[in-house]
Amino acid sequence: EKVLVGNKISEGHDNFVMAYNMLTGIRVAVSSCSGVMRQLTDQDFVNTKKLSFNFEGNELTPSSKYDFKFKDYCPEVFRELRQIFGIDPADYLISITGKYILSELGSPGKSGSFFYYSRDYRFIIKTIHHSEKKQLLRMLQDYYQHVKENPNILLSQFYGLHRVKMPMFGGGRTRKVHFVVMNNLFPPHRDIHLKFDLKGSTWGRVTRVEKEDAEAQDFAKYTLKDINWLEMHEQLKFGPDKRNVFLKQLEKDVKLLQKANVMDYSLLLGIHDVKRGNSTDMGQKLSVFEPKSSDKSAIINTNPRDIDRSQDLPSSVYPGRSKYIFYGHDGGIRATDVENAPLQEIYYLGIIDFLTNYGLKKRLETCWRSLTHSRATISAIPAKEYGDRFRQFIKTGTTSEKQKKS
Ligand code: ATP
Ligand code: CA
Ligand code: CA
Repeated sequence: EKVLVGNKISEGHDNFVMAYNMLTGIRVAVSSCSGVMRQLTDQDFVNTKKLSFNFEGNELTPSSKYDFKFKDYCPEVFRELRQIFGIDPADYLISITGKYILSELGSPGKSGSFFYYSRDYRFIIKTIHHSEKKQLLRMLQDYYQHVKENPNILLSQFYGLHRVKMPMFGGGRTRKVHFVVMNNLFPPHRDIHLKFDLKGSTWGRVTRVEKEDAEAQDFAKYTLKDINWLEMHEQLKFGPDKRNVFLKQLEKDVKLLQKANVMDYSLLLGIHDVKRGNSTDMGQKLSVFEPKSSDKSAIINTNPRDIDRSQDLPSSVYPGRSKYIFYGHDGGIRATDVENAPLQEIYYLGIIDFLTNYGLKKRLETCWRSLTHSRATISAIPAKEYGDRFRQFIKTGTTSEKQKKS
């Protein structure tokens, strides 16, 4: 079986209760938010819905193992976002379900956030800081509008914003945890051979790779960063057509982030090397992900992120199977050469972690670091500068010329 990052969490695990409550809350909230869709109003962008869970249960909430309160932010807005992103409500509930089926990502990042995968690895739950929740609510109208107008959006797809409030062990104090549900950029059924998290800054942006792994060109377990990218002379290989679509979208998305006054985000990029393929046959795993229809246009329509063209799709990778099933549905973008002909790499990419407002904390950090470092290399800079530098880095790292044929 493919070794996916993360540990299965089960009863007894520290965060089991929290995760259990998160899932139970989402499931009940999402199923109660059904009925006819209507035109959203300004009110929908501030609405919240509260649910109270306990062992007895009531007409709104089923009996729950643990006592907790659940808050659903802007349920109607996220319902519509899920629809625009082509998430089938029934599929969503099935993925976000059950008790023992979450995986927790090994160690939380510097920010202290925890990550959980849904059992089919399509969705990621990330706990976020209170300030990030505020930021998301602040920018939600703009984000929603942007999603509606940009089927090729590179920004993380948010499917829900929630909060659980539960008692802490011992004493009457409670613990509040905010979290978002978003898309997993990486496909569950395809190995990612190289992974980069790129910010456009070089300050501390390097991942140390063990000598044996570097010699064996085995980077699968690392998240490489900007300095690694430069040292490895990596380039996103897009033919002129795709490069154009990609860079235009990047510009639009970054503009939104600049307007929202956020920074510290990155381009997360996973590269699947078609020649290397998968380490094991993952046919078994695929069932959950196969779209209901094998009709190409239906699939492309339900995948707003797919900026691929049909001619890029190789027919040789999974002989005997409808080629579009894999390429149309998992959001990957095929690398192409100057003539727009397909190359042996598939990119999975998106802009993540963009809820950090350029606030006081960052401003202090900027002042402090500017004393010793050039402003061009540090990562805490105002949103406008951050966005321009980010875009410049990605742009120069995206070529449609001088490509080595692979
Ligand atoms: P920090 O603020 O220290 O950068 P964080 O806790 O805010 O960390 P993120 O930057 O959001 O965390 O994500 C950390 C890592 O988790 C990413 O580098 C990536 O490997 C993985 N990750 C995050 N979001 C996604 C996603 N949507 N799809 C796939 N992997 C993801
Ligand atoms: Ca980050
Ligand atoms: Ca962060």
